[in-house]
Amino acid sequence: MTNEKDILLNMYRTSYRFLIQLYETRINLADIKRDISNLDNNYFEEDKDHLYDNLLTIFDELSLEELTELLTHYKNVVEDKLNNICVHEWIYDDIDIGPETSQRICYCKLCEISKK
Ligand SMILES: [Zn+2]
Repeated sequence: MTNEKDILLNMYRTSYRFLIQLYETRINLADIKRDISNLDNNYFEEDKDHLYDNLLTIFDELSLEELTELLTHYKNVVEDKLNNICVHEWIYDDIDIGPETSQRICYCKLCEISKK
């Protein structure tokens, strides 16, 4: 049977992973905008399917920003609750962030929350 901690963990992971997706989506959208404005033709302006307009409507910048704020707040509240319920066991790990650079991270092996 799942207990409160497992459910909190699932809430935390769900919001955390969604936030990462949101972050990547916002970066990709900025790239698409930049690439289209650098494009030296009217391919997307004359597009009858309105691919670019539809993209901007579906992935509305302000909505994504609001969603990011809501989710960040939610994740932080869940994280606080987990901090009260989990007896963290911190482990350190080196992750590669470049060919010759790595970064040391610290997270709990039980709930995977990063140490602040
Ligand atoms: Zn923990």
